[in-house]
Amino acid sequence: MLENLPKQAPDGILHLMEQLRADPRAEKVDLGVGVYRDATGATPIMRAVRQAGRRLWEAETTKTYTALAGDAAFLAAVRALVLGDAPETAAIATPGGTGAVRLGLELVRMANPEARVFVSDPTWPNHLSILAHLGMEAVPFRYFDAGTQDVDRDGLRGDLAALREGDVVLLHGCCHNPTGADPDTDLWEEVARIIRAAGAIPMIDLAYLGLGDGIEEDAAGTRALVSACPEALVALSCSKNFGLYRERVGALIVSAADDMAAELAQGAMTHLNRQAYSFPPDHGARLAAMVLDDPALRAEWLTELGEMRAQVKGLRTALVEELRARTSSGRFDYITRHRGMFSMLGASPAQVTQMRETHGIYMTRDSRINIAGLGARDVPRLAAAMVEAGL
Ligand code: PMP
Repeated sequence: MLENLPKQAPDGILHLMEQLRADPRAEKVDLGVGVYRDATGATPIMRAVRQAGRRLWEAETTKTYTALAGDAAFLAAVRALVLGDAPETAAIATPGGTGAVRLGLELVRMANPEARVFVSDPTWPNHLSILAHLGMEAVPFRYFDAGTQDVDRDGLRGDLAALREGDVVLLHGCCHNPTGADPDTDLWEEVARIIRAAGAIPMIDLAYLGLGDGIEEDAAGTRALVSACPEALVALSCSKNFGLYRERVGALIVSAADDMAAELAQGAMTHLNRQAYSFPPDHGARLAAMVLDDPALRAEWLTELGEMRAQVKGLRTALVEELRARTSSGRFDYITRHRGMFSMLGASPAQVTQMRETHGIYMTRDSRINIAGLGARDVPRLAAAMVEAGL
């Protein structure tokens, strides 16, 4: 039987990590994997999360099963975090944001097997992989202008004009992965109007809430879509903003047109949890809920999120200044306009290879760099590599 299995293509990022590990150069720089790093290169356990962990260790009396939908306190806390006050919503806890994306798309397929899913070009590769796995049609829409490194507003409008009733538009709520280019407020509102007018449904992948400009700022696009459209899905990840990567914390939040639809959605979502793995992971979700519900821990968490943003923004500014000095031009200023951990440089695969071979700088083939992977002392070398490669 097993010999019949199709051979899976190697994962691009994992291959890059192997190449990096085998590289003997001490000064090599890992801008590949999408995890936050502080100034010392560590991906720390956040202070508030560590404190919550201590309290939980003392206070927890049982590890018996929780609810199929997940811990109610966690669901209430993340619903309020993402949407503010939104009564007609259904929610389940999921294993990470990936679990929420996967089950969200399964929910779409259950409700409408004909739904096409519009995805930004480019997008997080796993979106395409999950859609292919589920046998759902992915329709790419133009998103990124490789000339300006900003959102391709006209391309986006032009391609979303093809939306039909019942289609789904998968959007990145903030800190677009891989490009770093986010819509501004006007564009979010326009996109919401286009989706609503077409009778389509927004699905928002929110994997970096709080890593762009702040919780409220980063949630604004999602909230605009949810309030404009009668139905919307949000796939939340708590991997980056709580530093809970390996605990697998996420939630699928669905806003419905009325209480009856919300109840149907809640039933279907709980069923999806049940048939996939019964109960979603609880430990990390409980830590996140404790942080969100305790005013002191929440304040500490918001402070640390602010420090993380400042770290990434400081590196963006340093890189742009270095590039300005080397090229006497502002052509790299887009790097400070980008949000979150990533920027797409618009380099060709040959240029990406050149930067790796000559300077030991590792990024994904599409020229996405994880800004947080930079140490302050790596900035001049990255700038030199970019200029030498002819960017
Ligand atoms: N969506 C996007 C756009 C992401 O970048 C990620 C993390 N790489 C995820 C979802 C899922 O994250 P996780 O499953 O680790 O919570």
